[in-house]
Amino acid sequence: MTRVLVLAATTGYQTRSFGEAAERLGVELVFATDRCHLIEDPWQDAAIPIRFHDEDASVAAIVDAAALRRIDGVLAVGDRPTVIAARVAQALGVPFHPPEAAAVARHKELTRERLRDAGLPVPWFFPVALGPESSATRPESPVPNLVPLSYPCVVKPVALSGSRGVMRADDPATFAIAFERLRALLRSPDVRAERNEAHATALVEEFIPGREYAVEALLHHGVLHLLAIFDKPEPLDGPFFEETIYVTPSSSPADLQDRIVEAVSAAATAIGLSHGPVHAECRVNAEGVFVLEVAARPIGGLCARALNFSAIRNPRSAIRDPQSAIRLEELLLRHALGESPGAWRRERDASGVMMIPIPRRGIFRGVAGVDAARAVPDVDDIRITAKPDQLLVPLPEGASYLGFIFARASSGSAVEQALRAAHARLTFAIDPEVPVLTPGQIHYNLQHG
Ligand code: ADP
Repeated sequence: MTRVLVLAATTGYQTRSFGEAAERLGVELVFATDRCHLIEDPWQDAAIPIRFHDEDASVAAIVDAAALRRIDGVLAVGDRPTVIAARVAQALGVPFHPPEAAAVARHKELTRERLRDAGLPVPWFFPVALGPESSATRPESPVPNLVPLSYPCVVKPVALSGSRGVMRADDPATFAIAFERLRALLRSPDVRAERNEAHATALVEEFIPGREYAVEALLHHGVLHLLAIFDKPEPLDGPFFEETIYVTPSSSPADLQDRIVEAVSAAATAIGLSHGPVHAECRVNAEGVFVLEVAARPIGGLCARALNFSAIRNPRSAIRDPQSAIRLEELLLRHALGESPGAWRRERDASGVMMIPIPRRGIFRGVAGVDAARAVPDVDDIRITAKPDQLLVPLPEGASYLGFIFARASSGSAVEQALRAAHARLTFAIDPEVPVLTPGQIHYNLQHG
């Protein structure tokens, strides 16, 4: 049976969606996920247990498993397993991005270097090592030692994703605060648990003003096939950079869209990416198209629901064409098995997603207005992903959303309006966190009632 290996952080919406697509295609999926190998198959999906931080052991475990169950294609979901996926693909002789390129794509400083060396537009940038004592601030003074060349600038981690830890600074005082905030985040237990050496470095770079776009594409043996350009209609000027709304097709002029695709293609080539999904973010202003990043993976998790494709007749496809539109996951599986993405194009409707941002830190109690929001014309679906009693942490420290709103309409502006109207009907109950009592306080409280 034809098999595709899917490397994912855990099983979730997207892995289920891959499962459905695989069933339609008559393909078997083999998952490799980062989970405790001491627990015997807790998800009942026979996944290969791996540790993202231990690449050598993870690659060896998957290659061993592939000796028993041949693997015909490889896919990575999320930023962390892309290098392992690339190394496995190389070991098995399956086409995918080269491991070195996947490693560069996952590292913001290395990406900047590659784009600069290829003569592509980049902000000025420099790395700062986060030593035991911050090298960016003197202990006795909040004024930075390493004053950036100019303001505004951006302070960011080199290897987190989802805008986590990315902050704008407008002067030395806000720079010092942002830098210390980033340092604290990179030392927090959940980031340390990734055991990634790259978390010992911060990147400082020029703030690039302009409109932002996201590009979803498949590289097929070095050639970029555009799947979608998303407008990001919210101004993303900081100090933090929540993603919120994505709408496709882009309303920008055709020549600008061409320039965006050319810039992403050139950036992917500069990084060395060649075969597999890519998700890029870029900023456009009078000076050009600045590619901020090209990740060697598809758009994340639930957002993939915003992308459906229909077939342009493809008589050479070994896999029969479906009657109706297919989801992104099915297209990714077909591509992982060698099919050219040129046979597919995004559906005709405009489509979009709002990643519902966390407005403030606190305990999530619930949401009202979901039915009313669902009733907004053109709204397709609403998924609240926050769980009752969960601690909500907004950006820049947080790494999640309250949920997702999906809309589909005849125009991008109708999609955007529907997303905003649905969001306005939702009311989230968020309680302040209960302060944690220290042992001294407990003793005091017991003594004094
Ligand atoms: P991540 O991989 O976590 O998404 P990015 O480096 O892509 O990190 O930054 C996340 C967001 O922060 C970008 O989409 C953009 O809105 C903003 N951003 C990052 N770097 C810059 C910059 N140099 N100038 C302007 N905005 C930036």
